[in-house]
Amino acid sequence: MVAEALPHPHRPTVSFELMPPRRPAAAPRFWETARRLVDARPDFVSVTYGAGGGDRDTARDVVATLLAGTSVLPVAHLTCVGASREDVSAVIDTFLEAGVRTVLALRGDPPKDQPDWRPPADGVHSSLELIALLREVEARRCESDPSTALRGAARPLTIAVATFVDGNVQAGTTRAQEVQRLLEKQQAGASFAITQLFYEATSYTDFVTAARAAGVTIPILAGLLPTTDPRRLRRVEELTGVRAPQHLLDALDALPDAEAQHAYGTAYGTELAQRVLDAGAPGLHVYTFNQFRPALDLLEGVNLGGTPSDGVDLARRPWVPSIPAV
Ligand SMILES: Cc1cc2nc3c(=O)[nH]c(=O)nc-3n(C[C@H](O)[C@H](O)[C@H](O)COP(=O)(O)OP(=O)(O)OC[C@H]3O[C@@H](n4cnc5c(N)ncnc54)[C@H](O)[C@@H]3O)c2cc1C
Repeated sequence: MVAEALPHPHRPTVSFELMPPRRPAAAPRFWETARRLVDARPDFVSVTYGAGGGDRDTARDVVATLLAGTSVLPVAHLTCVGASREDVSAVIDTFLEAGVRTVLALRGDPPKDQPDWRPPADGVHSSLELIALLREVEARRCESDPSTALRGAARPLTIAVATFVDGNVQAGTTRAQEVQRLLEKQQAGASFAITQLFYEATSYTDFVTAARAAGVTIPILAGLLPTTDPRRLRRVEELTGVRAPQHLLDALDALPDAEAQHAYGTAYGTELAQRVLDAGAPGLHVYTFNQFRPALDLLEGVNLGGTPSDGVDLARRPWVPSIPAV
């Protein structure tokens, strides 16, 4: 019997980026944020990793805690710039050993304050080399142990990559170069891409159109920053080179308090999010900067606020007490 085709409503994915706490004193607040975000039932939560690898243990612990105590899929960012091949292999091994099966493979940025800085000769110099090394380490682990091989077959390693819809200011590339780069990342084995933040829907839609024309077929997930805090937008420009529109900064600056900025910025972000969804974006990835309210309100604005609880309160799950007390 041939089953009647079921309706297939488009339900965009929802995901969040979290940054591991830099200091132990920041841990309780971080975990409160993580709990709130996990409770919104995202498709995944990605966990950043410092370019120098200084936060490597904290990043691994955050990912391991999410794996052990929640049902959310963690995506571990991994950078390679400045590290030796041996070191990067060891980090990959540690993450895979902890149970990570989805990795966002990134180059990372060279240190800006060291003009004479040169990458180590035996280093891993690009996301493409990192993807190859990830596959190599996974293959080595599978060869050495049949149970690991079976687990790997049941839950294959998935590699995501970053992409830059207006070019990567830090790397001095144009949109056209990033389209080519994304094609190379796909050919190297990437399964999906997450975009750098942007402020105009056309940045995303024009990039996707160019990428599809160039042969990119993998999903391109729209990365969005809640636009509620003008200080954050200026800081993000320093970090990424992506400049917020002057009219947005002026409008936020003119408002009397943080609450008014939150309302204005949420409305602004919601409109942008709705435009990219209407244009066919497969989902929204929110750069939370470890703030849950702007992220959740943004998603609420486009009716993707999640289905929290259903009587199961993830915030009260056993993983919470295992968080080290400060
Ligand atoms: C979603 C997302 C998450 C991120 N998370 C982190 C994080 O956790 N930690 C962190 O440190 N950084 C993070 N970054 C920043 C990222 O590491 C930097 O922006 C880095 O400069 C680019 O990384 P990549 O993986 O695209 O690098 P690569 O693909 O290795 O490329 C580096 C740059 O050089 C250019 N390039 C390389 N080869 C060529 C070539 N042959 N011709 C022309 N151009 C070339 C590429 O186009 C690219 O812009 C993130 C960025 C995004 C978008």
